[in-house]
Order: sequence, then C-alpha cells, then structure tokens
Amino acid sequence: MYKDGLHEHSRLEEEYFYKKERELIEKNKKEAAQKRELLERTSHYHKCAKCGHDMNEVTKDGVSLLACRSCESIHISLESLNSLSQHGQLKSLASDARELMIEWKKSA
Ligand SMILES: [Zn+2]
Repeated sequence: MYKDGLHEHSRLEEEYFYKKERELIEKNKKEAAQKRELLERTSHYHKCAKCGHDMNEVTKDGVSLLACRSCESIHISLESLNSLSQHGQLKSLASDARELMIEWKKSA
C-alpha cells in the first residue's frame, strides 16, 4: 500500500516537472521567435526592397517618401499616394522624384 502511494507521488511529481519543462520550452521558443522577427524587421528598416541599398527619406509638400539612390525606386505609403492622387499632385511628385534622382547622381 505504501509503495503504491510512493509510486503515485513520484508519477505526479514527474508529470508536474514535465509540464513545467514543456511550458518553459514553449515560452523560450516564443521569445526566440519574437526576437528573430524583430531582428529581421529592423535589419530591413529603410532598405530598398528591390536592391537592398539604403533608402533616404524625402519630404516634399508635406508628403514623405523613401527613395533609393542606387536603383531609383521609391516607397510611398498608400495614405500619401491617395492624398497626392486626390489633389492631382501625382505628376508633380513623379517629376520631383526624377529631379532628385538626377541631383543625387550628379553629387555621387
Ligand atoms: Zn534600390
């Protein structure tokens, strides 16, 4: 009788520590995934999606965009794009961006 009680106690203890260990492993996995995701995101911050070079923030008439000197790509938020198209400034932005790229190429 005593042996069975001891065995049961030992089994419950094992189950408890197994459960605690699994919880710790899951917590560590989740934290590692969050760190990896943050590192990956920040390593691409202000980098060109097309060529990987640095992008410079340019603000014109209250609208800001990111421009890549290397491949001449620009990144603009949907909100800014929508605002520009509603106010008929899209053509103006395109020509401003083109002039900016030309200036950058001259200065490089
Ligand atoms: Zn680029």
